[in-house]
Amino acid sequence: MPDYFSHGQLVSVLTAQPLDRFLDYRAPEGGCFQGSYVEVPLGPRTVIGVVWGAGAGGYDPSKIRSVRGVLDVPPMRDEMQEFLERAAAYTLTPLHAMLRLATRVPGLTDSPSARKVYALGAKRPDKMTDARRRVLAVLEEHGGLPFTLGELAELAGVGTGVVKGLAKLGAVEEREAPRDQPYPWLDPDFRSNDLNDEQTAAVDALKTQIRSADYHATLLKGVTGSGKTEVYLEAVAEALRIGRQALVLLPEIALSAEFIKRIEARFGATPAEWHSGVTMTERRRCWKMVATGDAQIVVGARSALFLPFRDLGVIVVDEEHDTSYKQEDGVLYNARDMAVLRASILGGDVVLASATPSLESWANVEFGKYNKLVLNERFGAAVMPEMSAIDMRAEDLPGGTWISPSLRQMVLARLAKGEQSLLFLNRRGYAPVTICRACGNQIACDHCDARMVEHRFLKRLMCHQCGETKPIPEVCPSCEQEGRLAAVGPGVERLAEEAEQAFPEARIALLSSDRFGSARALKEHIKSIADGEADLIIGTQIVAKGHNFPLLTLVGVIDADLGLQGSDLRAAERTFQLMRQVSGRAGRADIPGQAVLQTFQPEHPVVQAILSGDEDGFWLAEAAERRAAEVPPYGRMAGIILSSPDIQEVFDIGGLLARKQDPLLRIGAQLFGPAPAPIARIRGRHRVRLLIKTSKTAPLQAAIAKWVGQVRIPASVRLTIDIDPQSFY
Ligand code: ADP
Ligand code: ZN
Repeated sequence: MPDYFSHGQLVSVLTAQPLDRFLDYRAPEGGCFQGSYVEVPLGPRTVIGVVWGAGAGGYDPSKIRSVRGVLDVPPMRDEMQEFLERAAAYTLTPLHAMLRLATRVPGLTDSPSARKVYALGAKRPDKMTDARRRVLAVLEEHGGLPFTLGELAELAGVGTGVVKGLAKLGAVEEREAPRDQPYPWLDPDFRSNDLNDEQTAAVDALKTQIRSADYHATLLKGVTGSGKTEVYLEAVAEALRIGRQALVLLPEIALSAEFIKRIEARFGATPAEWHSGVTMTERRRCWKMVATGDAQIVVGARSALFLPFRDLGVIVVDEEHDTSYKQEDGVLYNARDMAVLRASILGGDVVLASATPSLESWANVEFGKYNKLVLNERFGAAVMPEMSAIDMRAEDLPGGTWISPSLRQMVLARLAKGEQSLLFLNRRGYAPVTICRACGNQIACDHCDARMVEHRFLKRLMCHQCGETKPIPEVCPSCEQEGRLAAVGPGVERLAEEAEQAFPEARIALLSSDRFGSARALKEHIKSIADGEADLIIGTQIVAKGHNFPLLTLVGVIDADLGLQGSDLRAAERTFQLMRQVSGRAGRADIPGQAVLQTFQPEHPVVQAILSGDEDGFWLAEAAERRAAEVPPYGRMAGIILSSPDIQEVFDIGGLLARKQDPLLRIGAQLFGPAPAPIARIRGRHRVRLLIKTSKTAPLQAAIAKWVGQVRIPASVRLTIDIDPQSFY
């Protein structure tokens, strides 16, 4: 039982407000517990907080106010308090920001009855306006799910009056919100497949671990199609059998439909979902049911790690190498690492699944921190695709085209057989650069140090840094000549255009994350492709993420060299993973697949490693290089980004930090910079970067805290600390 505080006792409350300390209050009538979610007065406002422990005292007792009320949800568990504290310490994030992640749920304070929701009504309004149409479109698109007033208005981009008006006309139906319903019971023994020997061995090992209810971290490595999902769902089932909950994290949650179906087939009912595509009503339900134990499985995005599970027994991180697990905005955390931390605190299992594990996880197996389970065979008859390169130096390619004659022949052969092909290019939009042929000017974003990317489908130029768009100009903004602007280089839209010319009979589907208004539309599109409604798929890396296209037998990588150009520490690793993942899309069913890489450097060691499939060889070489350089995972790094509208100021602060680097030197760390960040300006803010490198065991966070603490950072300067940075921009 958590500590109980009776009426009037002092309690220490953490709020999600940007304060750097706990606040003392008096426990309300009826008392409260450690972990209770409470409403407390703060100045003139009432805010949500959590009772973190006993009050510290030391304040004027007559000034201490009382907790206003205790929310009707189970208290935060010890384990969760510890998780938030340790995650905050690790990422050097204030604890209140961590609490915000854990309480990011709408309607926590609502009383269960006093809510109205809005769904599609039976009538159509006589007079249709644009605003009304948008409201109805949102409702239709979500297949009848009800929304709260605010949420519906926001999604439709209208005022709440429009929704109310539609309700009066009967076009929208106003109802009482249903009480949050528990999720349907998931049966761990509903239906399972017969496993092959490898799968059985892996499942047995995981089940034993899970039954022990202790912490274990396991890397589950297996080629695409080997049955990793099959295996970890058995681990999930075992957790359910012993009465614990399970969380499955997916990197691309918008595409979870296929996965949810698998859970339904395996457990007989639908699990809870937690991600940005879920309505607020559903999110509130998920949060509450997770806390009471009435949601057994949650399928979620990285933020699901901060849900208040009653008794979480296993966390699966699917595609654990995926870079989208690193949150690059706000609180900078890596969900994979935080999943490991959370499992270790709660005494549960974490399963990291991947066909191409990160070098970090690979090394953690080497260090003895993770167990490793391997699936070598594709399930059933499917085999890995045959891999080869097309040497682009030997291909005769007209300017402005990217599909080599050799690749073209291969696609034609598939078309003739009625099989699907995929052309992969990891670049959204039409063309990455728009250049003026008269003056050489490249059109850049007004706010960022970045070129604008042409999106012909949207008929606009877009900055991929800040999202700003503008119309495609007729006249060069620099020399004012007309009609001289030219698109340079390929994006998927341009590739699709070329493919239409090259394969006029083919039904072509373009898959790019920016092409679909909603996750739902994207899901449906993917399903129709999987069902065979396209002959040729053109896609960005969205296609690499675990979709099953059973008819796909050829993967052509348009530019295998693309990822190798950067100076990024992980360039080789990322290229290797991406190429292997994309290639793995071919030949999942019983028809063997083929994957070809178009490259100008077929002799490059990374390209060679991809082709030969010598994974261990690749990782050993990569590990040796990183070990020699003492960079992650054999050393540690932290990135510091300073930004300000004022370039002088940001360099001054950077310089000051560099001069005061003693606390870093004392732990044997090296400091690089200040230097302009690779993208030196974003949204009008100038960016300067410092990089810290140290040994694996040095107390990095404490040293950084001490170091930065010496310098007063003006309000106009933003300082971001990125522990274990994944990207360097
Ligand atoms: P991975 O997650 O490694 O890509 P999956 O678990 O998705 O692999 O398995 C690939 C395909 O093979 C899926 O369609 C899955 O249903 C099927 N499969 C894998 N193992 C079995 C099994 N033991 N029995 C029946 N089907 C299986
Ligand atoms: Zn921009």
